[in-house]
Amino acid sequence: MTRWVYGFDEIDAAKAAVDDDWDRVRGLLGGKGANLADMASLGVPVPPGFTITTEACNAFIAGDGALPDGLWDEVLTAVRDMEEASGKTYGGTDNPLLVAVRSGAKFSMPGMMDTVLNVGLNDEVAAAMIERTGDERFVLDSHRRLVQMFATVVLGMDGDPFEEILREHRGTHGVINDADLPPEALRATVDSFRAHVRARSATPFPEDPYDQLRLATEAVFHSWNSRRAFDYRRAAKIADDLGTAVNVVAMVFGNTGTNSGTGVLMSRNPTNGEPKLEGDYLLNAQGEDVVAGNRETKPIEQLADDLPDAAEELGAIARRLEEHYREMQDMEFTVEDGTLWLLQTRTGKRTAQAAVRIAVDMADEGLITKAEAVGRVTPDQVDFFLHPQFSPESLADLTAVAQGLNVSPGAAVGVVAFDPDLAERWGRDGRDVVLVRHETKPDDVHGMLAATGILTSSGGRTSHAALVARQFGKPAVTGASAIDIDMASRTLTVGNDTLHEGEWISIDGTSGNIYLGKVETVAPDLDNEWLTTVLGWADEFRTLGVRANSDEPEDAARARSYGAEGIGLCRTEHMFFDPERLPIVQRMITAPNLAERKEALDEMREFQRADFAGLFEAMDGLPVILRLLDPPLHEFLPSWEELHRHQTDLQLRLVRAADLETVERLVRELSEVHDMLGRVEALRETNPMLGLRGVRLGITMPEITRMQARAVFEAAVEVAERGGDPKPEIMVPLVSEATELARQRQLIDEVAEAVFEEAGRRVEYQVGTMIEVPRAALTSEDIAEHADFLSFGTNDLTQTTFAISRDDAEQAFLLQYLADKILTENPFASIDAKGVGRLMGIALDGARSTKPAIETGVCGEHGGDPASIALCHDMGLTYVSCSAYRIPVARLAAAQAALAAGAS
Ligand code: PEP
Ligand code: MG
Repeated sequence: MTRWVYGFDEIDAAKAAVDDDWDRVRGLLGGKGANLADMASLGVPVPPGFTITTEACNAFIAGDGALPDGLWDEVLTAVRDMEEASGKTYGGTDNPLLVAVRSGAKFSMPGMMDTVLNVGLNDEVAAAMIERTGDERFVLDSHRRLVQMFATVVLGMDGDPFEEILREHRGTHGVINDADLPPEALRATVDSFRAHVRARSATPFPEDPYDQLRLATEAVFHSWNSRRAFDYRRAAKIADDLGTAVNVVAMVFGNTGTNSGTGVLMSRNPTNGEPKLEGDYLLNAQGEDVVAGNRETKPIEQLADDLPDAAEELGAIARRLEEHYREMQDMEFTVEDGTLWLLQTRTGKRTAQAAVRIAVDMADEGLITKAEAVGRVTPDQVDFFLHPQFSPESLADLTAVAQGLNVSPGAAVGVVAFDPDLAERWGRDGRDVVLVRHETKPDDVHGMLAATGILTSSGGRTSHAALVARQFGKPAVTGASAIDIDMASRTLTVGNDTLHEGEWISIDGTSGNIYLGKVETVAPDLDNEWLTTVLGWADEFRTLGVRANSDEPEDAARARSYGAEGIGLCRTEHMFFDPERLPIVQRMITAPNLAERKEALDEMREFQRADFAGLFEAMDGLPVILRLLDPPLHEFLPSWEELHRHQTDLQLRLVRAADLETVERLVRELSEVHDMLGRVEALRETNPMLGLRGVRLGITMPEITRMQARAVFEAAVEVAERGGDPKPEIMVPLVSEATELARQRQLIDEVAEAVFEEAGRRVEYQVGTMIEVPRAALTSEDIAEHADFLSFGTNDLTQTTFAISRDDAEQAFLLQYLADKILTENPFASIDAKGVGRLMGIALDGARSTKPAIETGVCGEHGGDPASIALCHDMGLTYVSCSAYRIPVARLAAAQAALAAGAS
């Protein structure tokens, strides 16, 4: 028989049910339930209670909303146990027990599912409680909260009319806060609430405490499939079939007076990671008051003045729980008449900055190992350090129009949208949107995810907006009270300025500043000391090298400062696109004879030599792979279509020309265009990607290879003469037959010898090739004969393996393939392990059979993709190569791959 219910004092039984596997305990009891029971076993004060398992939720959903057999009997037994533990009775009039009914899935989904407090109250129970406590106001306030929450959460009613009724009663009694309403007003409020429920809901408010408990439990189960929970799961990549547990917890009251209170506490600062308690609380309040953001909370430091004993105990518990879980904790607590109770602890959500600092600090404190620290930072978090920030220059003469709380760092620039549906729609249209709200609610999540940034006029650091933004790395500013949002006119007013929906705003989640208009952003540098440390540790674990795809000395120097261990790919054609250089390249291509071509090539050699020298200097002592010219030559010439259009235009103008001078000029121009058109036509191919490119250029025009090789060796000699340590490696692209490489290598070696002889100095160098087409992969044992190294050009290898044009795919059917799940991943972003990966494996086996220790790498765009990096690690490649800004991520991903494979 399946067991559906576990008491908080039964963690051992729950563990035994799932082979003592903690992950499965969390799966069964949900994160909150598992931790409550775990805390109880550690001696942390937790109110009595029990957990209904996630399996019960799944059975309930599968059974179309019927509670599974046996569940209710187990609940009744568990309620008896709670009564015994607390000395109170549920639904009784002697010493009444009230309970909270809370959701709790395996992975925390803050605010996404339902909770009902004060369950078990009705008029009789209330009367008994008033008699016992003598606190009529407190009991009636609890009662009105129950009816209000039950109506909105369980019965699904609109919340506004209840707020309206409360407002009326406040008005009648001339008070501002609910807490100041006298008992008779609260009693009247409860009656008005119930009357409203009777009038508007098919189900009346249940007076029987057991009906309340059952309906609240079912509502929590149902909330697993609410739209907001569904949206959240999709974004957080949480599976839909996990289900939620239900925790039934004896109520403890933070609203019994000023010796009581409730709050949330993080064991470290979730924004910057500082090892210091961080949190908010309210005296004389109940849980939802703190997160709702409508009462001003106090910072946790003040608790020591208000409730010193509880503050001290809370600090000790935070430390104890951090030591136990070896993770930063996010706790909820309540103090009832001076007694502290922990209602929840979970792993705290944090910003990327905080994640990195906490991982490093915890390793330094000996709480976790360095390997664990490296494992706790995600590639996305490292990536966040590369997020745009506002450029100091653009801020220099700008003043912030307002400031709010800097709850999630980074700069966001977008057009204002006041509602989440609009934000989602505009986001889908590719617009940058800043979602601006009074405060966000769980129903807003789809709009928050579509926005580049989030701005709220109320709400604190632990508000819904702040939590969600941090988790998804969205820059956010909350609590910007100077901002006045008018939903009727859909405008935002701040001081004398008014902004309409659709106008630009810029927010800085790092400082909390808000600017009108579009502020310029720049990528930040990576100088963060904790990031540097954790990446340094990553380097200790990884065995895969990390190199840069870089064509320019300044970029190469940046890549080196980010940790690049050389250049894995310099696409030399990128050096030709400079507007000053292009005419020379065009002269080279269109030269009518060899002599003229050589003249142009000599000119090109001059600037290539300087380029290469710059790269050798930036990467002094490290390998620099320079790839010979790769693209089809017509790419350097004007487009055929454009020339054709130009020619037609000139012809028309010639027909209409009125004077001789114009005729002569047009004839001259026409002849030039005609000439160029002829040359472009001569080079034009139907499938240029499969045409005269890569090594085929060097074979048909060996003088290009000679020129490039000479530039490489002359630069190397020059740098060596200046005392540098250049390590040139020449790479031949798009080889599909070993003889191609053998011929090119011969040319390169001849040029090297000639240059060294002229210079009277030798420089060590290597010659290798790329594996970019299936035939190269399949014949790698022959290719390796002539290669010192191999590098997988996974862009072309993907293109040629799938026969999908890399230039067109993402504008055409590939997106539909992904949407229709014909392909689960974009193969141009993440290496297709099954097909392309298999070819790589064959190529490696072949090459290693010829040269066991041959150097191998990946230099396609996949070199910065964590999943592809893991594949490269597993295949024993020497390095991956990627753009400078992805190098930190690649270092981390390579270390995580090594750790996953058992490195320590
Ligand atoms: C490749 O094909 O993967 C490669 C690195 O070369 P390119 O992208 O320049 O064709
Ligand atoms: Mg290529």
